[in-house]
Amino acid sequence: MSSGNVPRPSSIGSAEGMRAPKAVRWIVRTLEDAGYETWAVGGAVRDALAGDPSGDWDLTTRAEPGTVRKLFKRSVPIGIDHGTVGVLARDGTLYEVTTFRRDVETTGRHAVVEFADSVEEDLARRDFTINAVAWHPIRGELRDPFGGVDDLQERRLRTVGSPDERFREDYLRVLRGLRFAGVFGLTVDPDSWRGLVRGVPFLDRLSAERVREELLKVLGGAGRPSRSLALYAASGALARLAPELNRLVGEDRRDGGDDDLWSHALRTVDLLPPHRPRLRLAALFTGVGWPEAQSRDRGRKSPGPRERAALRAAAVLERLRFSNDEIRHVVGLAGWSGFFPEGDPGDEEIRRWLAGAGREQLHGFFRLWWAEARANACRGAGPGPDTVLRRRWRIREVLSREPALKVGELALDGRDLIRMGYRPGPHFGRVLEYLLDRVLEAPDANDPETLARWASEYLEAAGVSPASGPGGSHER
Ligand code: ATP
Ligand code: MG
Repeated sequence: MSSGNVPRPSSIGSAEGMRAPKAVRWIVRTLEDAGYETWAVGGAVRDALAGDPSGDWDLTTRAEPGTVRKLFKRSVPIGIDHGTVGVLARDGTLYEVTTFRRDVETTGRHAVVEFADSVEEDLARRDFTINAVAWHPIRGELRDPFGGVDDLQERRLRTVGSPDERFREDYLRVLRGLRFAGVFGLTVDPDSWRGLVRGVPFLDRLSAERVREELLKVLGGAGRPSRSLALYAASGALARLAPELNRLVGEDRRDGGDDDLWSHALRTVDLLPPHRPRLRLAALFTGVGWPEAQSRDRGRKSPGPRERAALRAAAVLERLRFSNDEIRHVVGLAGWSGFFPEGDPGDEEIRRWLAGAGREQLHGFFRLWWAEARANACRGAGPGPDTVLRRRWRIREVLSREPALKVGELALDGRDLIRMGYRPGPHFGRVLEYLLDRVLEAPDANDPETLARWASEYLEAAGVSPASGPGGSHER
């Protein structure tokens, strides 16, 4: 495994030289001067120990929420039930200050908590040892009762306490574990791995929203999401959450090359920018139409690879409750990016592809193709960068002639048909689709006279005449 953006081992796990923002030290000092022990905890401490001090600083304190609010003029209750107060610092950042807590009851989805007396109790309810380290931003002291610093140094992911219990308390920890292992290049400790895998069948109990947000965190990470995603596949979580995607694992690519569709998808995802998680999502789905459906009644007309890609991508995204806009966007990209006409396509073929794919998304297609081409170049199979450049040049050439690509861009619309004496109805839609089809073939014919003539011919052939008097047109 190469190291990607994982910090070098020498810089991992040392609190020396760690420094919190001034505002964090001010909050800690204010609370401690009033007599309340306070620590930095969670992601920021972990990330800082791993050499990346840019995380969100969360603080945990013995002071109860009411006291925190009294001590800081500019504060907001964020989750008073959970003991969290947001303190607005002079640097404009809202820091979360949470009272020491212990779990009294957990359900696999959420926990009932009560206030605790010590930071150790608070650390004991956290999921993984690397997330259960407290650091004192003024004294520089570490509280690490579960050996999280060692684990980070040894590149090991372990749960705090019994893996089975910890995953049972909240199955989201299964996915969090896969993410942390991937992001920090950690090996999951064998006991924790067994517990994690045993938790996989219960992932369906999580709300779609939590799973979706977790997946977006993986895709939005600055490093290489492929490592966490490969662990999704290895643990069975992928098969559980997205069997449609899991079919890519071990599936041969059509264009040669010795890797499978899944490895190719992962390599492509890594080559896309982290601030475009939805594009990365689309990249995962581009090959998803190739594995054949196992159809019992062969010979019947079943969806082709393009339709399968769109249907499968939509099924996953709908299950994870992505918004309709996001689904349209991702499914459009995933459904069309792999189906640009091969070889040296003519203008008409390109226009037809554009009509399906939509010119609004072109930028996304170019980025996707570019990443795929680079992934292909690593393997020496499939379209490379020269193919993408040629496609881009051809698409620009075709678009420069401003062809009509959708019904709304035709030189004739429903009102014109009414003016020609036809009564509106569902057949209008069919006429316009027919006209678009002809204009995609012959773009220069997009003028009102030609289209009016074609429309009359088409409707006449269908037995529809314009109204000659009251009563309007009729369908025989
Ligand atoms: P990220 O911000 O990248 O998701 P994080 O570790 O900072 O990672 P947060 O959700 O910000 O995660 O939570 C902060 C801390 O709270 C974690 O480091 C961990 O100690 C604890 N925590 C969060 N979620 C859970 C959970 N589901 N179970 C146990 N502890 C958790
Ligand atoms: Mg965090």
